[in-house]
Amino acid sequence: MTDRPVRVRFAPSPTGYLHIGGARTALFNWLFARGRNGRFILRIEDTDRKRFVPDSLDDLMSNLRWLGLQWDEGPEVGGPYGPYFQSQRLHLYRHWAHWLVEQGHAYRCYCSEERLEAVRQEQLARGDPQPGYDRFCRTLTAQQRAQHEAAGDPCVVRLAVPLEGSTTFHDAIRGDITFEHSQLKDAVLLKSDGWPTYHLAAVVDDHLMEISHIMRADEWLSSAPLGVLLYQAFGWEPPVFAHLPIILSPTGKGKMSKRELVNPDGTVIPVLVRDYRARGYLPEAMFNFLANVGWSLDGSTEVFTPEQAIAAFDIAGINPAPAALPFEKLVWLNGVYIRQLDDDELYRRLVPFVAQGLGMSEAEMAARPELRPAVPLIKERIKTLAEAAPLLSFLFVDGALDYPDPTELIGDKMTAAQSAQALAAAHRALADLPDFDQAAVEETLRSLAEAMGLKSRQLFGVVRVAVTGAKVSPPLFESIAILGRERTLARLQAAQQALAPLAVA
Ligand code: GLU
Repeated sequence: MTDRPVRVRFAPSPTGYLHIGGARTALFNWLFARGRNGRFILRIEDTDRKRFVPDSLDDLMSNLRWLGLQWDEGPEVGGPYGPYFQSQRLHLYRHWAHWLVEQGHAYRCYCSEERLEAVRQEQLARGDPQPGYDRFCRTLTAQQRAQHEAAGDPCVVRLAVPLEGSTTFHDAIRGDITFEHSQLKDAVLLKSDGWPTYHLAAVVDDHLMEISHIMRADEWLSSAPLGVLLYQAFGWEPPVFAHLPIILSPTGKGKMSKRELVNPDGTVIPVLVRDYRARGYLPEAMFNFLANVGWSLDGSTEVFTPEQAIAAFDIAGINPAPAALPFEKLVWLNGVYIRQLDDDELYRRLVPFVAQGLGMSEAEMAARPELRPAVPLIKERIKTLAEAAPLLSFLFVDGALDYPDPTELIGDKMTAAQSAQALAAAHRALADLPDFDQAAVEETLRSLAEAMGLKSRQLFGVVRVAVTGAKVSPPLFESIAILGRERTLARLQAAQQALAPLAVA
C-alpha cells in the first residue's frame, strides 16, 4: 500500500457517451478521494482520433456533474498537473518514449504494414497460439538502424518486454496476479505519427499526475502487465491497482451490453446516463444505486447519502464477483427519493418533464397554475419524473374532453341511462356550489350519491372518467378543485352527451 496522498482519476476516452459502467467507475474514484482528503482528477484520453465523438465530452462532463461527481482537476477547472487532455501532452509521451529507447527498454521498429500482415498470415497458417509481432527490429544492428534513419523510414516505438521470467503485481481487489513475460508481445508505445498508445500515455500521465490508486474497469486488467513493466522500465513507483468487477445485465446473463435492454413487458433498461436522466431518474437515486453495484454501505442499508457512502467507502469492501445490475432497485429507490423531495423541489424538477411529455415549452408549463397543486397528488404514485405527464395530462386540456370509448363512462353495475343521469345530477350540484374547493366538492358528491341511492364508489367512478378521461387518476376531489368549475362542468356535460346514444338504446 502506498502512503502517498490520494490522487485518483477517471480517464474516459471521448468516443461515446457516459454509460453506467463508466459512471460507477467515476463514482468509486470520487468516493475514495472524498473520503481520504484526496483529489479526483478527470483526464480525457483523446488519442484515438478516428473514434472521436464530438459531443461526447460535453455529455461526459454534464452527466458527471449531474451525478454530483465534480472533479478537482481537469477540463474546465484546470489544475497544477495539466493539461488534462492527452492530445495536448504529445511532447511528454515522445520524450518518455525516446528516453526508454535510449535506456534500452524500448526500440524503434521500422516494419511496414505489409510485413506485419505477412507475419500475421504466416502465424495464422501455422496455427500459432500467440500471433503477434515477431520482434524483428529488436535485434537490428546499429548499422541497419542508421540506414533506416538515413532513409527517413517511418517507425513506431515498441516496448522491449523481458524475454524470460515473470512479474507479480498486487491488485487491491483481485489479489496477486502473476504473468509470464513469454505471454506478452512487444507492444507499440508510440505510433509512427507520433501519437502514443494507451499503454504509454496512461502510465506517463498516471506517473506525472502523481496518481496514487488506479481504479478502473476490469476490461483493463489485461493491460496491467504491460503497465507494470513500463513502471519498472521507467523506475517509477507504481500506483495501487484495483480492477472493478464487471457489471452484468439485470438477468445476470452476460455483460451489460452497450445497447439498452427492452424487457418483454416493455420496460427499458438504459445503458447511458443521459437516458436515465431523460427518463426521469433523480441523480440522488442514481448515485445511491450505482454506489451499491459491487459495493455496499454495511451489507444491509439500501438508502444512504453521499456523506455516508464517503465515510464508509473502501477499496477492500468492493466485491470481486461480477454484479448483476439490480435495475428494479433503482426504480424503487427513485420512488423513495421522489417522496423525500419537498413539494416545491419536486415541482421544480417536474416542470421540464411534464412540459416535454405534453408537448409544451418549459416556460408555458411554468406559467400554468395546475401543476404545483397537483404535485402532492402524484408524489406517492410516480417512480420516475416522466410518469407524471400521462397522469396529469387531463389538467392541461382546455375545456371538455373527448371520449373515444363512451362505454368507459358507464359506472359499475349501472346502465348507460343511470350513468348519464348521475352526470347530469353532478353537474347541477357542482354548478351551484358556493365555494368550489376540494372539501365542498367531496361533500357535495357524497351526499349526491346517497340521495341517488348509489354507492359513492359508483358515482365517483363515473365522474372520474368524465373529468379525467381515465378510470385511474390522481385523487378525484383535489383534481376537480384544480380543474376549476368551468372545465369540470364542461366535461360533465360532454360526457353526458357522449353517453346519450348509448342511453337511448
Ligand atoms: N481511456 C480508458 C477508457 O476509456 C481508461 C482506462 C483507464 O482507466 O486506465 O476506459
